[in-house]
Amino acid sequence: MENETTHIDQFLLIHSVRNDCWREITTLADAWAANRGERAALEAAIAAGAAAEEYHAYPGARLLAALAERIAANDAGGAAMLARRISNGLLTHAYRKRLSEWDVHEELSSTEVADVLPHGTAEAGSRRPYFEVLYVNSQPAARWPALATELRKLRRPEDPFVYEPILVGSFEDAFCAAALNPDIISVVLAEGFPYRSRHDAPILRSVLDPLGEEEGPDMSALRLARSLKRIRPELDIYLLSDRQVEKIAGDPAADAVRRVFYAVEEPLEMHLAILEGVQARYETPFFDNLKKYARRPIGTFHALPIARGKSVFKSDWIRDMGEFYGLNLFLAESSATTGGLDSLLEPTGTIKRSQEMAARAFGADHVFFVTNGTSTSNKMAVQALLAPGDIAIVDRNCHKSHHYGMVLTGAQPYYVEAFPMTEYSMYGAVPLATIKRALLSLRAEGRLDRLRLLDLTNCTFDGHMYNVRRVMQECLAIKPDLIFLWDEAWSGFARFSPFLRPRTAMGAAADLEEWLRAPGSIKEYERQQAELGKNPADDALLAAHLIPDPRLVRLRVYQTNSTHKSMSAIRQGSMLLVKDVDFHTVEAQFHEAVFTHASTSPNQQLIGSLDVARRQMELEGYGLVMNALEIALKIRRAVNEHPLISKYFHILGADEMIPGIYRQSGFTDYLAPGSTWATAVKAMREDEFYLDPTRMTLVCGTAGFDGTQFKGLLANEYGIQLNKTSRNSVLLQSNINNTRSDVAHLVRVLVEICRGIEKRLADGGEGERATFAKRVKSLMTDVPDLPNFSHFHEAFRGDAGRTTPEGDMRTAFFKAYDASVCEYVPLIGAECDRRLREGPEMVSANFVIPYPPGFPIMVPGQVLTQETIDFMRKLDVKEIHGYERARGLKLVKPGVVAAKAKR
Ligand SMILES: *Cc1c(COP(=O)(O)O)cnc(C)c1O
Repeated sequence: MENETTHIDQFLLIHSVRNDCWREITTLADAWAANRGERAALEAAIAAGAAAEEYHAYPGARLLAALAERIAANDAGGAAMLARRISNGLLTHAYRKRLSEWDVHEELSSTEVADVLPHGTAEAGSRRPYFEVLYVNSQPAARWPALATELRKLRRPEDPFVYEPILVGSFEDAFCAAALNPDIISVVLAEGFPYRSRHDAPILRSVLDPLGEEEGPDMSALRLARSLKRIRPELDIYLLSDRQVEKIAGDPAADAVRRVFYAVEEPLEMHLAILEGVQARYETPFFDNLKKYARRPIGTFHALPIARGKSVFKSDWIRDMGEFYGLNLFLAESSATTGGLDSLLEPTGTIKRSQEMAARAFGADHVFFVTNGTSTSNKMAVQALLAPGDIAIVDRNCHKSHHYGMVLTGAQPYYVEAFPMTEYSMYGAVPLATIKRALLSLRAEGRLDRLRLLDLTNCTFDGHMYNVRRVMQECLAIKPDLIFLWDEAWSGFARFSPFLRPRTAMGAAADLEEWLRAPGSIKEYERQQAELGKNPADDALLAAHLIPDPRLVRLRVYQTNSTHKSMSAIRQGSMLLVKDVDFHTVEAQFHEAVFTHASTSPNQQLIGSLDVARRQMELEGYGLVMNALEIALKIRRAVNEHPLISKYFHILGADEMIPGIYRQSGFTDYLAPGSTWATAVKAMREDEFYLDPTRMTLVCGTAGFDGTQFKGLLANEYGIQLNKTSRNSVLLQSNINNTRSDVAHLVRVLVEICRGIEKRLADGGEGERATFAKRVKSLMTDVPDLPNFSHFHEAFRGDAGRTTPEGDMRTAFFKAYDASVCEYVPLIGAECDRRLREGPEMVSANFVIPYPPGFPIMVPGQVLTQETIDFMRKLDVKEIHGYERARGLKLVKPGVVAAKAKR
């Protein structure tokens, strides 16, 4: 196991690898007991997994010692029985529910093996949530079992949660345990432990070194606390010291610590603090109150007849609705904001507290809960941050809510293009050089002061993650007060992976904030200024990794995320995160945006689910996200390495999703030979773009299916749902809810489909094979070029700069309200061709957004070019918002345009 763990997927798979190891141990033990196998093989398998076992509470030292004893005593039957029990325990989590599972002498009855259901036979009171606490200490390892016993004695029946201690004795071990074991959610550091582990396990080095956690001059408990917080900010960390605790507590480095204890104090205090710390994450103020509200007898005279369910359950005609949703849904409905349910429009009570807790969890200063999806969060952010005439640099390929937001506010979008992935009919992300060029061109036009916002999607639908920190850092070097809006609709979950967090808005903002405060940052800036010299040319600025002046920077970062897309919120549950040093200057505008966009009847259940989604991520998000990453890597491997499936299907690797120039570290893909945890971490840190492994583009054109067709096949025949397709691919995404069974199902289905293709090709003869080859060729090579944004018509450029492309989209948009100034030109036909050749120019009157790909091919005021028309003509999708096939392209009449341009 040790050598393999350096492999990126093996590291991320450590959890399921552990279960697999125990399966293997069980098989070897059975074989030995049946005289079919060697005792040595069993011992080797146990030894191989020994290092990782120390970081988990179960089975723990006692059961492991018992297993070793039975083996040493040649009790093959006893060893096999115990191994099976441990293996089943790990799979079913029975040890979290039954204390007897920890008992060496308790043997397993055969009926208990079936206890795999989440609500299995639990002992009374054992439904308390279970977690593990890491104790980092300097006691000799021989004393640990006794210490653990002492700690367990602190348990009381009235404790709301139950935990098991894990004892380790070094910085390295502590770091690895916290990284590998997601059940650890609290850590106690007793000062005086060494850096090096007592084991010389390469697994430790391979995890730690790439994360930069090397031995240094400062190896104190506070340094460990900071390091642990860096990988898992949600952890509660307690420090036990026998030095001057008052002084330690005052050290700024102690920010990472929840509480400092003087070592000889009452252990019960520590126990209570640990439980209270978990309770502080477990608490969901709004949801808790909603449950309380539902239990109270309440007469309603407000306008929401279904509240309390009486109109439903008393009805002969709609009772099935009540039965389907259950009583609680109706008991928890109210349109009143009194009685403690608080108001989403002006929260002062439980919603306010829930939002504050979400801010803590997601690393923001403020959070707005939004109950109309990120579509609304984006419009709120755009409206609050931009006034008419402000310029925003926007990815043209971003979600429609941004474009409509620009129309609403009258801001001038400066569209920038993502790099195209023509062969798959999709876009990547916007190169930093493109963004910097836009900033520099605005500066050259003297319009940099009008620029207010950079608005980008991170990650993109297809999984491109920006180097968020570098983008912000370099932009701030050109415009130190630029505001950033990161649409992380898909990637809210990424906060809970140390691997992905640096590429999120809030993760990068925190890193940047730290840099701004670091003593060396001004020197760094000044050194670069000296190198660049006075008035450096644009080329020099484009070539350099620009460093901003830390004294001038105003760090203003916003993030929106569809909590419902990646966490356990009900559909449309969304959050808007704020980390803005100048928030007070826009706060009033944000309240206006809430008033503008939020319904006056927000859904209580949605708000409750946002609250609960936050609780879940703070307590088990780390493990859930690790699982989603594991599943993704398993799917990637299963598809691309399967001899039959890989003949027809293929999941695109990082090297196929991201051109080499944006992978500066040289990283190719997770599955590539030579890819290790270290190379993946390096790529995540350095590369301009990085592929979120959970977003998997499965090429199906090579199997003769277009995306829409394949999506339909999976849904109708196999019950597999997905939502995004392109001409020749579909997008699979793994989520916090996926299991290994899902991977197995997908693999079975793909095998079946491939067998079908093989049979058809074998039975159909030459003709069939030729048709298939032709179809594949058409799907894979006859792909339309992706049209760049052309330009706004002169009439709709407002006061745009001479050389900069921003536009006055709102005027064009409202032009379309007057039917007399609009005309329709059929997409296919002589008139369209003639207009392209001879003019007058065709100017779009509205947004035209085909699904897929889902970005606007035309925006109001945009001049249509041959490229645009060619793409529209080749487009073979049914759903094109803003385009009526029967009437044609909706344009602003040439006369109107010309008259306007003259003015
Ligand atoms: C889905 C999505 C949105 C809109 O979010 P909803 O929650 O569906 O309203 C915005 N931006 C991006 C990038 C999205 O993928």
